[in-house]
Amino acid sequence: MEWTDKALVLHVGRFREADMWVRLLTRRQGVLTVFAFGGSRSRRRFCGCLDIGNSILCRVKGTRAAGYLALQEASLLQGLRRLRTDGQRLGLAVNCLRFLELLDIQGEEAHGAFTLAEEILRLLEEELPPSPLLALLFRLRIASDQGFAPFLHGCVRCGRQARTEEAWQFLLDRGGLFCPDCRATGRYALELAAASLEFLRTVQNSAPFLWDASRLHPAERRQCGRVVDAFVQYHLGIAWEEGRFRRV
Ligand SMILES: [Zn+2]
Repeated sequence: MEWTDKALVLHVGRFREADMWVRLLTRRQGVLTVFAFGGSRSRRRFCGCLDIGNSILCRVKGTRAAGYLALQEASLLQGLRRLRTDGQRLGLAVNCLRFLELLDIQGEEAHGAFTLAEEILRLLEEELPPSPLLALLFRLRIASDQGFAPFLHGCVRCGRQARTEEAWQFLLDRGGLFCPDCRATGRYALELAAASLEFLRTVQNSAPFLWDASRLHPAERRQCGRVVDAFVQYHLGIAWEEGRFRRV
């Protein structure tokens, strides 16, 4: 079987002298690994486009069932320019791409993840200083889109709608909110101010350029970070520790 698709390069590695493996997020098939035989030498077939973060058009032969997929040809659609010369921006981009690599994204979920990842990379290439929360918010949104959405619209105990200015709680093990009347104690109950809650809902429902964390107070930003980090760790079993992701 042979197919052609758009893909983002998530990770690249070498094996033997001239061959490479490439982890891709493809628009239709999701996350998969392809082998680029002669990849580190053949500029004609791969035209130097096998770098992390590049958007490529790829022609692939083989099936997952057959054991491996071989990259026949690739051409560059969009490379990273500014990101490659800016350590902070590149770090945020790599963080997002590494997270995608860990998830088993396939089939119908692939298109949404691909589009979101492209939007994040475009945002990181732009003039505005990127939000340091961006990679964390990306994790929340991807987790939500992959079926792990935290419920942020009402109290999971009494059903009251979250419309007030009061501080609510996020119950980690329940994956949802407790209103001020249903307050809980314990390590799974994380505080969430009204503004933080509203912001996390925006992240779930809107494009990344609208995720403007600068309108939050630093304490609210920290709340958002704590909730997302704990949520991803608890429900997806993935933790970000000492500069790398770890399965927990
Ligand atoms: Zn309640």
